[in-house]
Amino acid sequence: MAEHNIPRDEFGPEMIIEVYDSKTKLRGILVIDNTALGPSKGGMRMTPSVTVEEVFRLARVMTWKCAMAGLPFGGAKSGVIADPKKMSHDEKKALVQAFGRALRPVCPKLYIGAPDVNTGEEEMRWFSEAVGSWKACTGKPAEMCIATETDHKCGIPHEYGSTGWGVAVAARTAADILGFDMRGATVAVEGFGNVGSFSAKYLASMGARIVAASDSKGTIYNPDGISYEKLAEIKASSGTVTNYRPGEVFPGEKLFELPVDILIPAALADSINEKNVDSIKAKIIVEGANIPAKAEIEERLHRRGILVVPDFVANAGGVISSYSEIRGKHPEDMMALVEKKIAVAVKAVLRLAKKKNIKPRDAAVEIAAERVRRAMAKRGGRP
Ligand code: NAD
Repeated sequence: MAEHNIPRDEFGPEMIIEVYDSKTKLRGILVIDNTALGPSKGGMRMTPSVTVEEVFRLARVMTWKCAMAGLPFGGAKSGVIADPKKMSHDEKKALVQAFGRALRPVCPKLYIGAPDVNTGEEEMRWFSEAVGSWKACTGKPAEMCIATETDHKCGIPHEYGSTGWGVAVAARTAADILGFDMRGATVAVEGFGNVGSFSAKYLASMGARIVAASDSKGTIYNPDGISYEKLAEIKASSGTVTNYRPGEVFPGEKLFELPVDILIPAALADSINEKNVDSIKAKIIVEGANIPAKAEIEERLHRRGILVVPDFVANAGGVISSYSEIRGKHPEDMMALVEKKIAVAVKAVLRLAKKKNIKPRDAAVEIAAERVRRAMAKRGGRP
């Protein structure tokens, strides 16, 4: 087992599992942080640099995310140490299958996987088949169904845009609380991938005006408004949002300084940082990406009166979709559940933050931790 220095506290982690398979050369990591609320849930990433520390940090966030969304899931994360760009389709498949076989003792009883960096619905199919259980993971292809006498359940892949839908609902809920109307509110979205594009789509459908969007090539800005449909078409056909017209093209970082009501970071970690934090003009930031701002940066935004809906509250749409998949819900009912749960969570967090005059992230951790503590007390401290 490799050396690592994972802090332990009252919540966990309950298990740190490292697996190795000599045939495929699989090196995999699973950290199950806490299972008091139910089987632990968390995505499976495949990168050459993934470490036990990284997997643990993400697993803890999943503990808070599931508790905050009111789901009967604990928190976990898993990783395969490999570079998918340097292997064939069959080699990648063999690694994912080996990982599935290795995790049979805990999956799906204690751990249920999901897509993450470099894994999608195809990998979820391989993983589920290798574990030998439909319930081994979520985010499976829509045609991957099981039928029992009473049930017919199918996969719900990420293509429904549940996370972006949740981000849009979080923005609308926060705007309601601040007392401004979403209709006509201006929005900038960093990143135009799964989370960013669906956030833009659903915010536009709520009447907001998308004025800026970015990707790895730069930012497109038009204060009169950008058509979501046309932007999605340009991105798909030319590979970048910066080919949209009419509009001005700026470097990616410029997006954070634009005069908008709502800012949605939906791409990189630390995109809001020391360099740009004081130039931000948005009234609300809804964190679609994971950790787009460090705690001290969020503190500065809070002191400037900018409302930040933290990542694990705002981007829980994906895991709510996972819960819906496990329960055999139709995608339409899943979208309704995302709307309900995200709105309830954002209201609870912002209410407590206001009452205690603390930043929303601190309020969210307080609520989530209390729910996990209660569940742990109920099961009698059983690890
Ligand atoms: P994705 O790969 O689909 O999209 C990422 C986008 O970011 C791409 O459009 C890419 O062009 C863009 N990008 C890359 N470099 C950029 C830069 N320098 N400036 C601006 N844009 C840049 O990924 P995703 O699934 O949309 O995930 C985005 C973030 O949301 C990640 O932090 C992820 O962990 C988090 N997240 C995703 C989900 C989900 O359901 N997909 C759920 C929770 C959290």
